[in-house]
Amino acid sequence: MSEIYNFSAGPSVFPKSVLVQAQQELLDWQGSGQSVMEMSHRGEFFPIIAEQLESDLRLLMDIPNNYKVLFLQGGASAQFSLIPQNILRGKSKACYIKTGAWSEKAVIDAQNYCDVVVSASSENTAYTNIPEESTWFLDQQAAYLHYTTNETIHGVEFSTIPDAKGLPLIADMSSNILSRAIDVSQFGLIYAGTQKNMGPAGVTVVIVRDDLLGYASKTTPPVFDYQEQAKNGSMLNTPATYNWYLVGLVLKWLKALGGVAEIEKTNAAKSANLYQAIDKSVLYSNPVAIANRSRMNVPFVLADAVLDKEFLVSAEANGLFELKGHRSVGGMRASIYNAMPESGVQALIDFMVEFERTH
Ligand SMILES: *Cc1c(COP(=O)(O)O)cnc(C)c1O
Repeated sequence: MSEIYNFSAGPSVFPKSVLVQAQQELLDWQGSGQSVMEMSHRGEFFPIIAEQLESDLRLLMDIPNNYKVLFLQGGASAQFSLIPQNILRGKSKACYIKTGAWSEKAVIDAQNYCDVVVSASSENTAYTNIPEESTWFLDQQAAYLHYTTNETIHGVEFSTIPDAKGLPLIADMSSNILSRAIDVSQFGLIYAGTQKNMGPAGVTVVIVRDDLLGYASKTTPPVFDYQEQAKNGSMLNTPATYNWYLVGLVLKWLKALGGVAEIEKTNAAKSANLYQAIDKSVLYSNPVAIANRSRMNVPFVLADAVLDKEFLVSAEANGLFELKGHRSVGGMRASIYNAMPESGVQALIDFMVEFERTH
């Protein structure tokens, strides 16, 4: 089997060394005689893995003590409904910023539970920018302000944390968590599915400030009540044990690399190189406002869509996979998460230059 580079938006590329370690430990975790898959979540060994997972995430993100860290199921999509169910706190409305397909979905689901105030939207520019913060309407009666830090499909990313003007700030960080340093204390709640930047699909991280706990509606299933899960170490029911273990290995890999501050430098360099190649070319273009371009997901279109198919076929022949853009946007998308090495981005750039030269 030859080496390839996988630019999938998610589930996505893993650090190779983590896959090798998982393979080595598959049948016998650290002399326990058991595979992690076979371990009782309440047994002798798994609680060690669980504790390490939480403490490594707390370390990497510098999570303050007045926040709980939960590892749930249902994906980020379940959170679209669970956030209003848990965080409305008797209020009837919530503010949302719409900057792309994922924040749009969050709005639609929240509307089942409350009045959604769309504080700002870039729908009228086809989600190619983030509206100026000074134009946002933040309703002081709202329970919280929700936004999506990185729009995985549209390639739009916030480079700073917005001022929520006193409202608890809630962020969907599914596709850029651990890719750049952030100040957790600015947030009421952060959530992320793990399959973009943290590991395999099947775990949803929720980081929530203590004062927001304990308000779940009466009809919220207990496994989706943040307070109940916090009291039970996210083990109110059987957790996704093997996936927790894999996420833990990815966190250890990131720690060994020097943590979030280090990977942020690499991510900045990787994305800058790719955008520069796109901007220099005549064939490729990216429609997103420069200040709002994502470091994780780089969509681009070819000047003539007739070439799309040939581009994808010859990219694969050169070992570059999963570059097809989302069906709603078209063109191409290169997802270059933490685990995508610089050599992968360089191989893509070299291929793009050569493809342009010959077309
Ligand atoms: C992928 C993604 C989701 C959805 O995640 P699921 O695990 O499929 O529910 C939500 N928000 C963002 C920003 C994403 O990238």
